[in-house]
Amino acid sequence: MKSLDELLFDNRFARLGDAFSTHVLPEPIAEPRLVVASEAALALLDLDPREAQSPLFAELFSGHKLWAEAEPRAMVYSGHQFGHYNPRLGDGRGLLLGEVYTDAGEHWDLHLKGAGQTPYSRMGDGRAVLRSSIREFLASEALPALGIPSSRALCVIGSSTPVWRETQEHAAMLLRLAPSHIRYGHFEYFYYTRQPEQQRLLIEHVLNLHFAECREAAEPYLAMFRSIVERNAELTARWQAYGFCHGVMNTDNLSILGITFDFGPYAFLDDFDANFVCNHSDNQGRYSYSNQVPIAHWNLSALAQALTPFISVAALQEALGLFLPLYEAHYLDLMRRRLGLTVAEDADKALLERLLQLMQRGAVDYTLFFRHLGDQPAEAALRVVREDFVDLAGFDRWGEDYLARLAREPGNAEGRRARMHAVNPLYILRNYLAQRAIEAAEGGDYAEVRRLHKVLTRPFDEQPGMQAYAERPPEWGKHLEISCSS
Ligand code: AMP
Ligand code: MG
Repeated sequence: MKSLDELLFDNRFARLGDAFSTHVLPEPIAEPRLVVASEAALALLDLDPREAQSPLFAELFSGHKLWAEAEPRAMVYSGHQFGHYNPRLGDGRGLLLGEVYTDAGEHWDLHLKGAGQTPYSRMGDGRAVLRSSIREFLASEALPALGIPSSRALCVIGSSTPVWRETQEHAAMLLRLAPSHIRYGHFEYFYYTRQPEQQRLLIEHVLNLHFAECREAAEPYLAMFRSIVERNAELTARWQAYGFCHGVMNTDNLSILGITFDFGPYAFLDDFDANFVCNHSDNQGRYSYSNQVPIAHWNLSALAQALTPFISVAALQEALGLFLPLYEAHYLDLMRRRLGLTVAEDADKALLERLLQLMQRGAVDYTLFFRHLGDQPAEAALRVVREDFVDLAGFDRWGEDYLARLAREPGNAEGRRARMHAVNPLYILRNYLAQRAIEAAEGGDYAEVRRLHKVLTRPFDEQPGMQAYAERPPEWGKHLEISCSS
């Protein structure tokens, strides 16, 4: 276990030079205070959990102090926002402090979000509000607990610095961890500004640090792109299987590592609704729950376009063609597990689709349905979940087919219960739970954020005294309007 001053820094991205990023110092926020820290994220850096309580911790992650070895840089990138190309984005309010090596030989980028203005701030103030920082923190730690790859969050530091959004709020900073902060938009930036030498440097950097196994391939660049396609197919399958809606799948918000990245107005489904749009600013529903699959594919084709100077179009198209079949296979595999099925049958897809249609009609709670379906015996579980459907005859027919399908499965009922509960969470990061915690935090009480975070780190385990976190949302909680404002 290390203390904060024992962290071992490097800055390989900074060394790529000024075409890639700009040196900027963080602008501190006033009266910094620890809102919440993640023990699991501290452990990723080999940090002693007690370090979070030290005054130095809040000073480092509020921009008041810096490690001597840190070299804060704002990265430049561009990207397609809601389908339209924006030639110049970049870190408008976040700084890459450097990368930290761990004892296990891993390296983690430390990125301070909300650190003040940079050359890429455009009209923005360079700040992040407490509300959005807490939302990012909670999701960053809740998703990995569900088995969904994501950037991580070390902590949120609150402050008394006022910032203006629709009303006056307070600035906060979030310390984000990821093996890389490189987005699709980094590649697009060098492609559309016609800087092939810089783009080659970027690709080499990414290959060396993150896709070393692709070096062995006959065409390493193509192997890297194929790997990005594969990782994203799996990531999208996990989002769909657990009802996670990202909300702003712009190419500047997508990591080349295939991890969930850049959280905005995200949501987990409460009631199952294939057309659910979590981002109140997304008037066209471009990033609706069911559109995430074709959009993930579209985004990969935007990345492929940016790689055309280095990889043949035919090869890129072939790799892109892997996305949908891979996605389908991963998604079906995950959903079979959620249904308690261990062997694959051709008709499983149709069985699942019928279920989702019934859930859609009945506005059935997506998380609790699968959790309760795992209770045994299956006949009794079906009687309980049945209550929530409107097409009862349709559900009863589905239930008969499901029981017949279970009868063809090996293993006993108790084994199935354990298996299903291990993949079907009881606790999920519902918007209303986050909202309640945020309102308390805005009033200076951080206990609820901390409690909610703790519950969500063990989503599959029944936790004594935490039943309230496993309830259906109240009606107001289903209709929260979360916008891009952050
Ligand atoms: P986002 O919607 O958070 O992914 O941000 C899109 C772009 O706007 C990125 O280049 C951000 O760095 C920038 N941006 C967002 N909010 C601010 C802000 N308050 N100040 C400066 N830049 C911002
Ligand atoms: Mg972004």
